[in-house]
Amino acid sequence: MEIKKLILLGILLSTFGTVSAKTKVIAHRGFWNTEGSAQNSIAALTKANEINIYGSEFDVWLSSDGVPVINHNATTDDHHLLIEKTSIAELKKEKLANGEYLPTLEEYLLKGKQCKNIKLIVELKPHSSKEREDSLTAMVLDMVKKLKLKKKVEYISFSLNTVKEIIRLDPKAKVSYLTADLPPKELKKIGCVGLDYNLNAMIKNENWFSEAKKVGIKINVWTVNKEEDMHYLIKKGADFITTNEPQLAKELTNNK
Ligand code: MG
Repeated sequence: MEIKKLILLGILLSTFGTVSAKTKVIAHRGFWNTEGSAQNSIAALTKANEINIYGSEFDVWLSSDGVPVINHNATTDDHHLLIEKTSIAELKKEKLANGEYLPTLEEYLLKGKQCKNIKLIVELKPHSSKEREDSLTAMVLDMVKKLKLKKKVEYISFSLNTVKEIIRLDPKAKVSYLTADLPPKELKKIGCVGLDYNLNAMIKNENWFSEAKKVGIKINVWTVNKEEDMHYLIKKGADFITTNEPQLAKELTNNK
């Protein structure tokens, strides 16, 4: 009887131990570092889905006339238009490096809905005013709800205002904070599910790994492209690695 119990305990520990310890991979701006793709393109989203990782990240800005679009920088890559000051009609003419037109959030989410293997990690960019940030937040949350994507979407932002506004509007939303100026216990108080900090900040504040685990805050680290850094984070028990090299990260996390 005792032996049976011990065996059962062993099985339980190994099963749950493995599940909880595995580091998952998020493609930073999608899987763009591959043929036919480009950062924040629809192709980058579908290619992330094809390699079967945890999630695909992308960045959202609000046009001058209030339409959310997908782009990393404040300006477009094509004609360097400042997105916050440009109408959607003009932005729709902008091309990405792979020839696609700059996508709207709605187009991106509709395609994302078809990508069954991945979560959609939505980064809401800090905007020129609180009003514009709040307006973007309300629109993004409305669209996610309307498209029935609540379970598939997670949110990140450098703006503490945006982080708090998402949680205020949808207390069940999964939100992580990007600016590494708050310890895990403070994020817990705000209602975040996780931290999403840059690698150097985590190395500098190594106690945040254990503090996060203690208070129940998930650990996501960006932008981790080197094999040695991936090994470090896997060893530290990071929950997620956000990377421009999702295939390499997938290989290493699977081989752990
Ligand atoms: Mg981003």
